[in-house]
Amino acid sequence: MLETPHVAVGAAIATKVVNPALAIPLAFGSHFLLEKVPHWNPHLNTETEKYGKPTKNSTIIVIADASLALLLGGFLAFRAPDINHSITILAACFASVLPDLIEAPYFFLRVRAKFIKRWIKFQKSLQEDADVVPGLITQVITIMAALAWIFA
Ligand SMILES: [Zn+2]
Repeated sequence: MLETPHVAVGAAIATKVVNPALAIPLAFGSHFLLEKVPHWNPHLNTETEKYGKPTKNSTIIVIADASLALLLGGFLAFRAPDINHSITILAACFASVLPDLIEAPYFFLRVRAKFIKRWIKFQKSLQEDADVVPGLITQVITIMAALAWIFA
């Protein structure tokens, strides 16, 4: 999945669960669950194998998605009633995207560490892929469901 739906769900969990000892691991776990929702992602791995790095288009998508995820996570944390809860929400957002952050140096800094390659393979084995249009709609629905849960 893109990072924005991951962050929306992570923030929703922390908004509702509140207790960081529970919310942060749950947000981390939600990452793997969301990979089971059929979705479309830029093909970072295929492109890196082919050209040594992701294409310009994919990089732009990643930057836009990461920026949106940061803004959304920041906004959802900021609106929490107290600073502790805000920090929990930020930490949960971070935990929700951590599995993908681990991969970033491989794709964007050309770090070819063996454990990252193994991690990418593992994450790929979880992914439920879909074509671009339905695969983006499912992610918009995921974001809306998370926001509905937060604001309900
Ligand atoms: Zn992922």
